[in-house]
Amino acid sequence: MNGGGILKKVNDFYKVDEVSLKHSFYDACSDKEFKDYIYSLNIKEDMLMKYTSSLEDSFREYKNCLKCKNLEKCPNNVKGYFYQPKEDKGIITFSYQRCLKKEKLDEDNAYKENLEVFEMPQNIKDANFKDIYTDDKMRVPIIKYFKEFMDKYLKGERPKGLYLTGSFGSGKTYLIASLFNEMAKRKVKSALVYFPEFLRSLKASFNSNYSLQFDYIKKSPLLLLDDIGAENCSNWSRDEILGPILQYRMENNLPTFFTSNLTLEELEKALAITSSGVDKVKARRIIERIKQLTEALELVSRNRRN
Ligand code: ADP
Ligand code: MG
Repeated sequence: MNGGGILKKVNDFYKVDEVSLKHSFYDACSDKEFKDYIYSLNIKEDMLMKYTSSLEDSFREYKNCLKCKNLEKCPNNVKGYFYQPKEDKGIITFSYQRCLKKEKLDEDNAYKENLEVFEMPQNIKDANFKDIYTDDKMRVPIIKYFKEFMDKYLKGERPKGLYLTGSFGSGKTYLIASLFNEMAKRKVKSALVYFPEFLRSLKASFNSNYSLQFDYIKKSPLLLLDDIGAENCSNWSRDEILGPILQYRMENNLPTFFTSNLTLEELEKALAITSSGVDKVKARRIIERIKQLTEALELVSRNRRN
């Protein structure tokens, strides 16, 4: 076959292709709504024609948006986004565009940037004052403490944190997280740290971001050390990590919160015993710091975990 023959074949191929493009385009345009939609884009017809199937996809998402009542139920390919065509220099490109409802939600959630979570599920950032169970008298003093804490802190005072002890699953972590959320809405930054796991990961990251994380937590305006006493206590975790964090926070008036299944007396015993022996003096020193940093409250309640 000579070169001219090939060229003719290629040309024929494009002609057939053009015909079928036109065909499927006019076919799709028999849907009046679709036609109105694509002509509202102000793109020339001969260009639109090349993109019928993608335009149909974006039209489907556009219609979903018109009917939308609830972002949660968004059926679009990427939740909260719609597939949008745009013409530029002779080609149409399609991209996912954030919808107004999603924009609003992101704006509403922007305060969560003020909460930093270490080794805890992210959804702890959804804990909320509104949802605190009030079916339980044990919570009343805690809620009262929260109100006073907020008032004072926002006036510029630096009130003590809480040492919240109590039974497993009673909602200790949830309560403190809900306070931090309320503070986050008022632009106060905080860190929630699941202490036993944090120690493990700190140890594992010794050479990389160790000092960054350690520093961040030490200096966070509000701090929760969650589940203290549940870790395997070592000289290192007690004397190199916990001790300096508490010391720094005392010296700088930074409110510090703890949750624990242990009372302070029990924690003192747990901190005294490490694999290297018994050191009551060092344990005592930690407890003294915690006492200076906090008020102690107890939450005994039924287990809320399912
Ligand atoms: P604790 O820290 O005392 O072991 P958590 O704070 O983890 O207990 O609470 C146990 C479970 O109950 C968690 O799944 C938490 O999300 C849920 N929970 C606790 N208090 C509330 C609340 N007021 N509203 C909604 N869920 C709660
Ligand atoms: Mg907890």
